[in-house]
Amino acid sequence: MKISSFINGVYVDSKEQRNIKSPVTGELITPYSVATDAQVNEAVEAARAALNGPWGSMGIQERVDILYKVADGISARFDEFLEAECLDTGKPYSLARHIDIPRGAANFRIFADTIKNVADEAFHMPTPDGTGALNYTVRKPKGVIGVIGPWNLPLLLMTWKIGPALACGNTVIVKPSEETQLTMTMLGEVMNEAGVPPGVFNTVLGPGSRVGDKLISHPGLDAITFTGSTATGERVAEAASVGLRDASLELGGKNAAIVFADADIDKAIEGTVRSVFVNCGQVCLGTERVYVERPIFDEFVARLKAEAEKYKFGRPEDPETTMGPLISATHRDKVLSYYEKAVEAGATVVIGGGVPDMPAELAGGNWVEPTIWTGMAEDAIPMREEIFGPCCHITPFDTEEEAVRMANDSPYGLASAIWTENASRAHRVGAQMEVGISWVNSWFLRDLRTPFGGAKQSGIGREGGHYSLEFYTELTNVCIKL
Ligand code: NAD
Repeated sequence: MKISSFINGVYVDSKEQRNIKSPVTGELITPYSVATDAQVNEAVEAARAALNGPWGSMGIQERVDILYKVADGISARFDEFLEAECLDTGKPYSLARHIDIPRGAANFRIFADTIKNVADEAFHMPTPDGTGALNYTVRKPKGVIGVIGPWNLPLLLMTWKIGPALACGNTVIVKPSEETQLTMTMLGEVMNEAGVPPGVFNTVLGPGSRVGDKLISHPGLDAITFTGSTATGERVAEAASVGLRDASLELGGKNAAIVFADADIDKAIEGTVRSVFVNCGQVCLGTERVYVERPIFDEFVARLKAEAEKYKFGRPEDPETTMGPLISATHRDKVLSYYEKAVEAGATVVIGGGVPDMPAELAGGNWVEPTIWTGMAEDAIPMREEIFGPCCHITPFDTEEEAVRMANDSPYGLASAIWTENASRAHRVGAQMEVGISWVNSWFLRDLRTPFGGAKQSGIGREGGHYSLEFYTELTNVCIKL
């Protein structure tokens, strides 16, 4: 497959080619064309023209029908999307089959339904002459939207933004992570087949520091929606401030789990294993700090270790594989640097801490061991900064107040997980967490109508259900004197 930007309904090459490497073997997957500055400009112009053309004037039902076809198009090519996503990310098929690809299709269906069923407000008001007035809101597309995302859940996270943006009648220029561009490239074909007019969906491929920065700095964008690291989020906010464009920022996390002694320990172990290790720990909502009430601390550590020992590395398509590699050699080096910093900070390494022995054909991949630590101080660097690898630290606690205080003592505030069978405590502690998403006796249980986003340095704004509509539309209040 030729990997190049998709502008105005066609794939466009450029002279500059870069390589996409397999995270599993380190071998070349394919070269891709880096978008030129001129191509970024063309993408923005195409998106503006489409907004002012048939897409902008299309009725909601027709738009919604097209978005259902996009969802059907992803489902019809399920196996191809699965193969591409796993080739790009190295994640096991068993994971992407149940999460990434179905959610990629669902994101179009759900937001098509949301826009179809939204009810807007009307206010009757008295006037001095007694005739009164009627106010009602008209919801309009926000315009041309820049969509930028990370590599950990490429199709899922990009469509989480493209779905509502298109449902609301906007046009988009999408900049996927330079690490993972296959499924976004395939989406161009699906858009054409579904009858999405040219210019509504565009992609520009290439490094964030160049192509991404060119896009967010472009005065032709009306808004930017971004998922990625907090550092890049700050740059996006800065660029968006020029011309006062709106920005939705879904950023990093350093998420805590609190396990009380009254928890169902089997459920707490099962949930924590997933939240720490799934997708090789590369999940923004994943747990990196675990607080366990002292009476069950030793048992919890021993059982989490036993579960971590069961992970099997391997190729994505192997049904035995339960853990893939990290996305890149650069990211592996970053994660391994935290493994070293943890030891320097006095951590006891319960399991892992290094690189696994892999067979020769996989030795070039970005493998790291699932890792558990105890004994670090709460202010140690690996306890404060997001690592984004398959690792966690477990700290004992004695009181509810102490656990809540330690869990909330973070510059981030994305998600948390509380494990308790005490219903009063579940409500009390659940609501005290300084995060966007506070789970109790679960993790990654997502209802797409609910607000999704982060507190503190984990983001600005919420998306999901009608919260997405608030971001992707502009409201005009019409006030009619009766
Ligand atoms: P990143 O910030 O390095 O890159 C994200 C995207 O921004 C990429 O497409 C990249 O090319 C682009 N980019 C980089 N510099 C840019 C610039 N100057 N201008 C414009 N675009 C630029 O993040 P990453 O390493 O790809 O992803 C991992 C991070 O994403 C983690 O911090 C993780 O927590 C976060 N994340 C957050 C959520 C969430 O919903 N809150 C979800 C997934 C991942």
